Amino acid sequence: SEFVKEEFSRGMLRTKTVEDILTPLKDCFMLQSSAVLDFSTMSEIMQSGYTRVPIYEEERSNIVEILYVKDLALVDPEDCTPMTTITKFYNHPLHFVFNDTKLDAMLEEFKKGNSHMAIVQKVNNEGEGDPFYEVLGLVTLEDVIEEIIKSE
Ligand code: ATP
Ligand code: ATP
Repeated sequence: SEFVKEEFSRGMLRTKTVEDILTPLKDCFMLQSSAVLDFSTMSEIMQSGYTRVPIYEEERSNIVEILYVKDLALVDPEDCTPMTTITKFYNHPLHFVFNDTKLDAMLEEFKKGNSHMAIVQKVNNEGEGDPFYEVLGLVTLEDVIEEIIKSE
């Protein structure tokens, strides 16, 4: 029975995709790169409770950087530091994956890499124009583990 469960879990990881488990873009807590790290922005980040905050430029679909809450350790809200000063200083890599990435492959990526969050995109070739990359949301290691636990 343990064996059956394990096989079930493996099968699920081979068939389910990141698109099945992602946090949709509309629900993502993100900030604009033009933001200033004043008292109000810093409290908003703290209150969100998230460890990683995608940073976008102009449109939410245009994620350009990632802020880790721990990057704020030495930031004084009195200084009103521009967001980009901090994101450019730490310069954490952004990871993108395609929507059809299977969970087993995603898990391997998370194990290899030094980041536990990836931005999920798909090639949108609906409509008249040229195909373009469309950001669907984000996925973290936690989402994959949650799925494994659910399947047990
Ligand atoms: P950690 O547990 O490493 O402190 P966290 O609690 O910020 O990080 P995760 O545990 O990685 O986040 O993920 C928990 C859930 O929150 C997952 O469903 C993930 O997709 C979602 N999530 C993570 N970051 C954000 C964010 N900035 N906005 C919205 N949802 C997020
Ligand atoms: P995040 O990826 O959310 O930024 P992190 O890089 O601080 O978090 P984890 O990703 O949770 O840490 O862990 C990465 C590795 O570093 C793990 O092997 C973990 O055991 C180790 N680690 C985390 N914090 C410490 C610490 N304070 N001292 C020593 N090792 C740590």
